[in-house]
Amino acid sequence: MEISGASAFSYSARKLQHVHPFLQRQQPEFEKIFEVVDAMPLDDTHCHLVTDRDAITTPKRFLERISLAGYPVPFYFPSGVYEQWLNGDEATRHLLNKQYEIQLKVDQMTYHLSQSVFIKFLTKEMSQFFGCEPTLEGVIEARNDRGRDYWGYVNSLFRDVNYENIIHDTGYMEGVGRAEIETFEQAIEPCRSHRIARIEAIQEEFFGLEISFEEFEARYTERLLDIMDGNGNFGKKSVGMKSYLLPDIGLIRPLYDRKVASNSWNQLRKTYSDRPTMDREDSANVTKDLCRYTFTLTLEECLKRDLPMQIHTGDGEAPYVILRNQDPFYLEEVVRFDKHNMLRMPKIIPLHSGYPSVGKASWLSHLYPNCYFELSIMTPFVHQSLYERYKQVLEAVPISKVLFASDNYHVPELFWISGRWGKRYLSQTLTDFLVGGSLTFGEVIEAARMILYKNNRALYKLD
Ligand SMILES: [Zn+2]
Repeated sequence: MEISGASAFSYSARKLQHVHPFLQRQQPEFEKIFEVVDAMPLDDTHCHLVTDRDAITTPKRFLERISLAGYPVPFYFPSGVYEQWLNGDEATRHLLNKQYEIQLKVDQMTYHLSQSVFIKFLTKEMSQFFGCEPTLEGVIEARNDRGRDYWGYVNSLFRDVNYENIIHDTGYMEGVGRAEIETFEQAIEPCRSHRIARIEAIQEEFFGLEISFEEFEARYTERLLDIMDGNGNFGKKSVGMKSYLLPDIGLIRPLYDRKVASNSWNQLRKTYSDRPTMDREDSANVTKDLCRYTFTLTLEECLKRDLPMQIHTGDGEAPYVILRNQDPFYLEEVVRFDKHNMLRMPKIIPLHSGYPSVGKASWLSHLYPNCYFELSIMTPFVHQSLYERYKQVLEAVPISKVLFASDNYHVPELFWISGRWGKRYLSQTLTDFLVGGSLTFGEVIEAARMILYKNNRALYKLD
């Protein structure tokens, strides 16, 4: 009996090896856990839409679009120059190359990107999915083939890792609007889409207007309430809010004083036309108090409705953000959100695992019961090391506060590889807790369910 049990088990292990050929030789406990986890539903708590602009691509362009170091390439040149080069004819490109060495710089950038373990590993995974040569060229050729029915391809990626809900941030849209959002949301069905809105996107609608501070405040509030209570987020309600303030100013102290905010508004009026060419720190200083005020006002409204606030923490996006400002501990004052000698505990989700300050983000979440932990950027970009990173998170953060996310942008492969590696390396981490005796098998499975989808549904009250 024992022998036949063992051979049945290794049959299932062989089956997994076939589906996931990159599984390391593992303890039998891993295989048991992974088989259950791999079949689980998945919710993505923070991500961005996919459009069809990357349906057909080239290896270099793919590297540029998928990489944190690659996609801000336009910011390395004066405003508009890169787009002109990208969309220009031969003569235009030649002229711009002479002036700015664009091709040379892009080549250098994409060469280094191609030499990352992340890309080498992703290439192997994609070649297994497509059944093609495990080279970047081979994979992009197969992808372009599927690109003729791009939305069908996107949908197959979602099905492969079993996404059931996503919450996408409409604050990063690359110039598209409601129609493109709806196309994307339909394409990924039956996965359900929910939206959050970004404070900065609302502000930007009004920052350029020659109106009084009182008028600005009234218009901002009206838009905010329409987004939270009406259908103001491109035709839908928001299930939460997002802030991108941290990289601009560092430590965020709530601000209630309207006079201080009004002074900042007046300063913005005086300098508005200079903003495109202003030093990034000077520019952030002008609007610092104004943004602290809109942030505070927004968080108050979230608190009233028990909506979570996602806050950009850690991560890129060089070269236009101020990296040193993105420390997770700079969120302590908004996590506390104290007023009248009382901590009011709004639900705060520092994004991107606070990466690279994963330990600090974990510790903030450990100490403050209303502070959550979101796994994106680290997932998928640290690839095989997710095993160690998930261990680092779970050494401090309660299982009930860890939320799976991909932060997908541009290309849908980030959704897919996050799901694939997320499930695999979370299983590996949880195996250690089972083998070490910290968790029972039942507790391990429940932990995976909570992290991969249950916590997200509870926090956002999704049914
Ligand atoms: Zn994001």
